[in-house]
Amino acid sequence: MFAFATLVTNAEYALGALTLARSLNAVGSEAPLLVLLTDPSVDCSALEAAGCRILSVTPPPVSVAFQERHSRNRIHTQDPFTKGKKPTFHAPLQNFCKLCLWELTDYQRIVFLDADSVVLRPIDRLFAYPEFSGAPNLYESLADMHRLNSGVFVATPSSKTYERMLATLDAPGAYWRRTDQTFLETFFPDWHGLPYTYNVLQYVYFNLPELWQWNSINVLHYQYEKPWDASHSKRELLKPLIDLWWSIHDTGRIPAAPIVANERRA
Ligand code: UDP
Ligand code: MN
Repeated sequence: MFAFATLVTNAEYALGALTLARSLNAVGSEAPLLVLLTDPSVDCSALEAAGCRILSVTPPPVSVAFQERHSRNRIHTQDPFTKGKKPTFHAPLQNFCKLCLWELTDYQRIVFLDADSVVLRPIDRLFAYPEFSGAPNLYESLADMHRLNSGVFVATPSSKTYERMLATLDAPGAYWRRTDQTFLETFFPDWHGLPYTYNVLQYVYFNLPELWQWNSINVLHYQYEKPWDASHSKRELLKPLIDLWWSIHDTGRIPAAPIVANERRA
């Protein structure tokens, strides 16, 4: 059995996951979208109506010291984000709940997608890729190519792997400066690289316009500022991408590629 999975810990990311679910439906994906839910009070009725399976998960058991080291304040002070802004509803510690998918051993392969991503072209072929496959954290320059972005990845659930992960995760003094992303990159040092088109980060749009081709994007990932966030500081810069997200949210369809100044210049 194959499945897509995403993580939702609050109503904000539930809205993100809904648009992701609608995008997967729009491209005709047959595998279900599993929503890993940590807070039962989040309203998931729209997600269920979109065909998602809601799974309550228990966050990885970690020590209080680990929680403190990965609190929002601590990370934002010790390793501030200088390239973009994280929304106020983003709690870094929650990112580690992605690891719960390794417990879903009914599935042979899971393709994880952040709740702030949308699928524009089918990605079902990723189920044939090995663990651990992911795309580069490419959003500023080619120097980003060797780093992993953990917004899209292919995993093989396994209790053994999960146990090994827990032992490494909360080792004495362990600090993962970019949370699950740093952890996964370290845990799977030989990760297989997917083409960047499987996880196109929104900043590519203004930082690397020569790499922006609407028709070759499989997954568009709104890293940093979220398209549904009213206090978005890059609204003007990312307008065509935000409009695209809302269009998928509102219509359940993938609109034709927008014709935008960036591409006309190219
Ligand atoms: N997430 C969540 N609640 C949080 C933080 C993260 O549900 O408080 C989930 C959600 O699926 C989100 C993913 O973890 O898409 C990673 O966080 P985010 O996408 O905000 O990080 P970025 O892509 O900006 O690094
Ligand atoms: Mn993300």
